[in-house]
Amino acid sequence: LHGLAQGRRAERVAEVLRQVGLAPIHARRYPHEFSGGQRQRIGIARALAVEPRLIVCDEPVSALDVSIQAQVINLLEDIQDEFGIAYVFVAHDLSVVRHISDRVAVMYLGHIMELTDRDSLYEQPLHPYTHALLSAVPVPDPDAAGKRERILLQGDLPSPINPPTGCVFHTRCWKAEEQCKVEKPVLRLLRPGHQVACHFPVEHVEGKIVGPRPEDVAPAIPDEINRADTFGG
Ligand code: SF4
Repeated sequence: LHGLAQGRRAERVAEVLRQVGLAPIHARRYPHEFSGGQRQRIGIARALAVEPRLIVCDEPVSALDVSIQAQVINLLEDIQDEFGIAYVFVAHDLSVVRHISDRVAVMYLGHIMELTDRDSLYEQPLHPYTHALLSAVPVPDPDAAGKRERILLQGDLPSPINPPTGCVFHTRCWKAEEQCKVEKPVLRLLRPGHQVACHFPVEHVEGKIVGPRPEDVAPAIPDEINRADTFGG
């Protein structure tokens, strides 16, 4: 279709299959003969075939089990190292995002809420929505999990067809004020390389977060319940 492998199609197919960890013989198989992870590799091979400089990866690992997720992510990183390709990586899994991203845009109802480099986002997030998301990430240590504060977002996600006025997040935000209902916040540069769309971004005072309000925080899980849940007791 793109005229990139005239006269050497079989050779090029074999080449891209090898690049994604498959063998040339796989070109002769039917789709149902592949596992989920192999199908994902084929999807990556198809993208690589046109020698792109940018690949949009829309939830590339969400349907895979954890061990296959790791293989596909490692493959994407290897390909990036070898060919210097940029990725726009769309995902809901915050651990995956943290692992693979250089810069992260947090989106809500199709709007960018916060945009910055990975370390700033995970260590000093400024948007109330980012805080709520990060507070919901499971922590593998039951002692740490029981002590930390989880911010609960109230209500349902509004319809993107009929979004709220002002800040689209105001109906669920734990820092919302009257101004948020009427005035849409624009992305502002609050720190070098760190942009936030919020009238009242989260403040960090001497390394500590100011807020949220006590009523927005889930009660800490008692130690004994926390352990019982974790270990299936
Ligand atoms: Fe919350 Fe207001 Fe900021 Fe929107 S502008 S995120 S409602 S504090």
